[in-house]
Amino acid sequence: MPEPKKKFDLPMPKFPEPDTEPFWDAAKNHELRYQVCDECGGIVFHPRRHCTHCPSLNLTWKTSKGEGVIYSYSVVRQNYHPAFRERIPYVIAWIDLDEGFRMLSNVVGVDDPASDVSIGQRVRVEWQDFEAASLPMFTPA
Ligand SMILES: [Zn+2]
Repeated sequence: MPEPKKKFDLPMPKFPEPDTEPFWDAAKNHELRYQVCDECGGIVFHPRRHCTHCPSLNLTWKTSKGEGVIYSYSVVRQNYHPAFRERIPYVIAWIDLDEGFRMLSNVVGVDDPASDVSIGQRVRVEWQDFEAASLPMFTPA
């Protein structure tokens, strides 16, 4: 007798994760956090323990408004991972947030990814909640 099909969840962060846990804690409240260096003022993303512009370990967490523009994107039409296969076609995109950092995410909430997404398009964060974590996705603004 064949085994019943297993439901696959999207890959999720595995805790404890000391460097990024404050990010994920804020994400549960739908707050998109990034870091600013206390020494050089550099903006740091993705979250980590040290500044990427200087040797400082003194970073301050800030909350983004979650608005920005699409820097680049691709429409994924084939994926062999079961959790992603259910989502095709979907858009993976680099988003330039207004606060000055760039993040990789998905653009969701469009009827046709081939025609409804473009470079330079304004987007805003839209949270997708899962048991393990809330994930920041983006939708046209
Ligand atoms: Zn720095």
